[in-house]
Amino acid sequence: MLINFQKYSALKIGSTFEVETIVDRGFDPAPFFIVGNACNLLVSDSTPPLAVLDRSFDYCRVEGGILIAGGKTPGGKLVSLCKRADLGGLEFLSGLPGSVGGLIAMNAGLKDRSVFDRLLWFDFGRGAIDAASIERGYRFASLKGVVFEAAFKVERGFDHTLEAQFLAIRAKHPKEPSAGSCFKNPVGAYAGELLEKVGLKGFRRGGAAFSGKHANFLVNLGGATFDQAIWLINEAKQRVLERFNTALETEIKIV
Ligand SMILES: Cc1cc2nc3c(=O)[nH]c(=O)nc-3n(C[C@H](O)[C@H](O)[C@H](O)COP(=O)(O)OP(=O)(O)OC[C@H]3O[C@@H](n4cnc5c(N)ncnc54)[C@H](O)[C@@H]3O)c2cc1C
Repeated sequence: MLINFQKYSALKIGSTFEVETIVDRGFDPAPFFIVGNACNLLVSDSTPPLAVLDRSFDYCRVEGGILIAGGKTPGGKLVSLCKRADLGGLEFLSGLPGSVGGLIAMNAGLKDRSVFDRLLWFDFGRGAIDAASIERGYRFASLKGVVFEAAFKVERGFDHTLEAQFLAIRAKHPKEPSAGSCFKNPVGAYAGELLEKVGLKGFRRGGAAFSGKHANFLVNLGGATFDQAIWLINEAKQRVLERFNTALETEIKIV
């Protein structure tokens, strides 16, 4: 299938590529970079072979008190199901873009909660793997396969107040296309604050910029290119290293 990443990716950057569609669980991911919903990707004009799960992996259901979802299912769909079934625990996914596979691979979340807090098991195509056995951390999980399916712990009672709080945080995010936070927060600091201190809040290169609203959001103001975005990322890394002796690590995945 042809995917135009200028349309498909959240950051609206990248060329059009032929992307392999994964239709069965026997798929060998070895040479491929797995694309989820491309909400956390900065896609270049020259990538490794790409593969994406087929839409048949977009489903979710509650079974025996746990929530089971296909790897391609948007997190928002999980929240909708939880609301309908009055189940709590996944409210933090409200407004957090991405598919189940990408959310797990990134251990996505907010300051004090992330996907692995709720993940029971996932399946690379050869049966359930206990989530507790996987090395993971802040916006990181050591995955060695394609997540086809996953199961989440839920409990009685969807918390609408919590959902409203999470949506209020999201409402403060920049409205332009982005991939969320560009850099991980270094230990004991906020990447956004460091970027601001080195004069990069609102700093622009062509169509790409560090948002004037939230410096750690790399945004596409219109027509941004991969080269412009990478230039900004490298400039930020260099300035923060020189000024604070801190090595910034990108949270977004550069493909
Ligand atoms: C406006 C905005 C706000 C955001 N806010 C947050 C936030 O608050 N917290 C947060 O944590 N993130 C946030 N993000 C980033 C993004 O939502 C998450 O990283 C999300 O988990 C990405 O999911 P995806 O399906 O789009 O994955 P992609 O971006 O397509 O891929 C991300 C990684 O997951 C891997 N992957 C994707 N699918 C699979 C699969 N099926 N099996 C194995 N590996 C897979 C990819 O190879 C890649 O390494 C935000 C993004 C945007 C655009």
